[in-house]
Amino acid sequence: MDATKVFRLENDVLAFRFTATLSDRAGESPRERLVDPAHLELWFRVAGLDVVGLDAADLRSAVDFREVVHRVGSAFATGLTPAVTDLAALNRVAAGGRATLVLDEKGCAAWSLENSSLADALSVIAQDAIRVLGACDTVPVRLCEGPGCAGLFVDGSRGRNRRWCSMNTCGNRIKKARLAAK
Ligand SMILES: [Zn+2]
Repeated sequence: MDATKVFRLENDVLAFRFTATLSDRAGESPRERLVDPAHLELWFRVAGLDVVGLDAADLRSAVDFREVVHRVGSAFATGLTPAVTDLAALNRVAAGGRATLVLDEKGCAAWSLENSSLADALSVIAQDAIRVLGACDTVPVRLCEGPGCAGLFVDGSRGRNRRWCSMNTCGNRIKKARLAAK
C-alpha cells in the first residue's frame, strides 16, 4: 500500500491529519480511508507511531476518537463551545498513553511508544490536538471551505485569510470549478 495514495497527508498538524482520514466528510459521499485495521496501522506507521496487532474493535475506538477530535476542533473553529463529554473524552485519551519523545544525536526526535499500544498512539494524537486547540485562541483553527470537505487546519497565513485545508486538493478543486464556470 502506498500511503501517499491511500491517505491525505499534507496537513502539518498531526491530529488534523488524523481527522482527514475521513475526507469529504460534509459532502454527499464521505470517504472513509481507515477501512480496516491494516490501514490504521499504516497510517500510524507513516505518522511515526509504531502500533501493531490492531483488530476491528481497535479500529472502532480509533475512529470514534477521531470523530471526537473533529467535533471539538469544529466547535472551536466555528466559535462554539465543545460538548463536555467530548472534552472529557479527549482529555481522557490524552492521559491514557505512555509515549515519549526521544532525541537522537542527529537532532531528530521520534516517538517511543512504551507499550506499542493503541492507547499510546491515540494519546500522542490527543495531546497534539490539545496543544493546537488549547492555545487560548492564539492559533486560528479553521474548517476548510472546500465543497463538502470540512477538514480542520491551522491558518498560518499572514492575513489570516486561508480558506482551504490544502491548496493541492481543495484549493485546486475550487480553482478548476471557477475556470469551468467561465
Ligand atoms: Zn479541504
